[in-house]
Amino acid sequence: MEKLRKVYVLPIGLFVLAVVVVGALIWHERDVREARAQDILKEIERLGTLPQTKYVYDGLEEKDLRNLNLLTVSDRHAAGFVEEAMWMIRHNETDHVGHSLYFLQEYEKTGEDSICIPHELTHIRLYVKDRDYELAEKQFQLVEKTKNTWVGEGEKKFAKFPPYYEQFKELLPLIDTAVERLQEKKYDNETIQLLGEIEEKEVC
Ligand SMILES: [Zn+2]
Repeated sequence: MEKLRKVYVLPIGLFVLAVVVVGALIWHERDVREARAQDILKEIERLGTLPQTKYVYDGLEEKDLRNLNLLTVSDRHAAGFVEEAMWMIRHNETDHVGHSLYFLQEYEKTGEDSICIPHELTHIRLYVKDRDYELAEKQFQLVEKTKNTWVGEGEKKFAKFPPYYEQFKELLPLIDTAVERLQEKKYDNETIQLLGEIEEKEVC
């Protein structure tokens, strides 16, 4: 009996130690992530207090986003929003800077990506217009990945608001055509026009 106890004590002890260490690491990682999210949210709030022209964030310069850039460096997804906002500043599409920051804010608050397909397509229109096809393709991959979820959630959400539901239903065939054209890499005026129409009818 004594011998048996000795045989089991060491592995059980090691197992408990491993559980404690892994648990502490997970907790630590979570704390670090939460602290970083808080820093990012505070920084977005600070950016909101900087001078603006017509909309909040539309007066930002690329250098204003430097802190945000550093804070998001370890999260590819969050960094993507900052890169997008920087692109908008560089290409003088300042009305859209706030959209990228809003989506980043939502992502940091919830840990989930809230996607608005018509608006993603609106941004793709800007990339195509500026002939940044690489970015258009990157963004389009996100559209393809999340489109069905957005449509499914929209069905439920807009069913409660008939005028929006009608707009949503009108939008769907336009989105399908735009997706087909982007799949075929048809970066022509017809696609740009179609994406413009989607922007006018956008519901999120
Ligand atoms: Zn936008």
